[in-house]
Amino acid sequence: MPDEDRCQHGMIRRSCSYCQAEPEYKIEKTKYRDIIEIKHNGNSITEFDKNFMFGRDKARLFLACIDIVEELAAAQGDELPHIRNREFVDLVGGDRIFVRVESFFERSDGRRVNVPWIHLQSSKNPDISIGFGRRKAKAIFALRRKIARWANYPLADR
Ligand SMILES: [Zn+2]
Repeated sequence: MPDEDRCQHGMIRRSCSYCQAEPEYKIEKTKYRDIIEIKHNGNSITEFDKNFMFGRDKARLFLACIDIVEELAAAQGDELPHIRNREFVDLVGGDRIFVRVESFFERSDGRRVNVPWIHLQSSKNPDISIGFGRRKAKAIFALRRKIARWANYPLADR
């Protein structure tokens, strides 16, 4: 059929073995040295942030808090019952990380979107911080081992 969905390999997408083998989430290089981007099936992870990009310093924040990332990734509904504002000690880097839970964010047009997200900030260097919601948490968790290798962070195998 002429209107079947064809993939980049010239096959019908759902029967292409290359496409079926491709992971849902992928790390891509960016034009910036030492900054990577995560894509979901070749697209942005969320419509609110076209490019989910970060460097190693930010990656180490969420790798240190990977249990929190996992919980956010698995969360249902609008609540994060087990994640609280707290300080988290990164045993690898010796940094204290501030974990802050937010319940909404404001879009660029000022409209309020009620979804939980988490903000992580280094106490050593407050300029190093990163915020992410459930969809980004899923991507981070899926790629955690690859990101850890890239960031040279000794993530406990799990
Ligand atoms: Zn294909």
